[in-house]
Amino acid sequence: MADYYDVLGVSKNATQDEIKSAYRKKAKQYHPDLNKDDPQGAAEKFKEVNEAYSVLSDETKRKNYDTYGSADGPTGFGGGGFGGFKQGSQGGFGGFGGFSDIFSDLFGGFGGASAKAGSYSQAVDGSDINSTINLTFNEACFGCVKEIKVNREETCEHCKGTGAKNGTEYKTCTECGGSGRVQYKQNTIFGQMTSIGVCKTCNGKGKIIKEKCSYCNGKGINKLSRTIKVTVPAGIDEGQILTLRGEGNSGINGGYDGDLMLKVKVDKHPMLERDGYDVKLEVPIPFTTSILGGKIVIPSLEGKLELTIPELTQTGTTFKLKGKGIPVLRKSTRGDLLVTVKVEFPKNLDRKTKEAVKTLDASVDQAQYDKYKKYVDKLKNL
Ligand SMILES: [Zn+2]
Ligand SMILES: [Zn+2]
Repeated sequence: MADYYDVLGVSKNATQDEIKSAYRKKAKQYHPDLNKDDPQGAAEKFKEVNEAYSVLSDETKRKNYDTYGSADGPTGFGGGGFGGFKQGSQGGFGGFGGFSDIFSDLFGGFGGASAKAGSYSQAVDGSDINSTINLTFNEACFGCVKEIKVNREETCEHCKGTGAKNGTEYKTCTECGGSGRVQYKQNTIFGQMTSIGVCKTCNGKGKIIKEKCSYCNGKGINKLSRTIKVTVPAGIDEGQILTLRGEGNSGINGGYDGDLMLKVKVDKHPMLERDGYDVKLEVPIPFTTSILGGKIVIPSLEGKLELTIPELTQTGTTFKLKGKGIPVLRKSTRGDLLVTVKVEFPKNLDRKTKEAVKTLDASVDQAQYDKYKKYVDKLKNL
């Protein structure tokens, strides 16, 4: 334990005014909010400064310290002399609760750091759970009901979240009257001040457990594996998030339950490709079909369909099958099925076929090839 006079940088004979002034400077120097590069180290120093000041600013404690090396005098060491410092330190800097008034005076808004310490008995919302849901292509298209397993924190049903056996084996904390907070009197540079801090008797919970609930070991919550039914709407797509309100971790002290957020993963279809609410398909067709026309079989969301290819269908032509796409999320309309044909030629031509194609070539008027004709004309004028 560092010497209190050294901590504040004052002499053993310092007056109260000198102590106050030194404390102001040191508190500002080591305030954690002003030491972002080393908040941990600053917090330690800050704590020391506060402790030193609480003793040296109180003449009785100072005298005890001077005489016995302890603010509590010769016998009462550790007797809880200055309540506000160490108790209730769960909330980070909350342990300095008693000094919040000084800080707000010194630093404007910084005093707020201590306010959180008192929030223990307040409602705390449960956190959200992030998970994934795997769907087949068709499940995503048309929706489904799926069961998924989730590990989550739930309010213990045996003690109703109280942490006490049967939910009854506790009593209201008499120290704070159940509020979880008490008033502390502190010596500050402005004299004795009253501030609110966490009740150390009940750790801010407002109640004292007489016998712990054995199911949750007094925590009031249990980590459980649950199977949850998820209704997946038609039209959902890869990467979207399904939110199940209130299916996350349970809130505490009446806080809201968190949500279950499911990131959607969709299996690929072996032939169809999704593009928004449309479905795309590329089909190779024999060059004879492209010339003569014919029927081809295609896959669709409703199974196999027959598609008629008209005579003289160019390669790359896309046929739109309206309403054969994916149902639009939360609407009654559907996207389209877009079928693009690509002409395929045989690998070899036998003599007979070659002769037939030659006859074909001779019989087709070159003027019938619109694009080809334009191209040749442009080439001529080059
Ligand atoms: Zn209490
Ligand atoms: Zn319990």
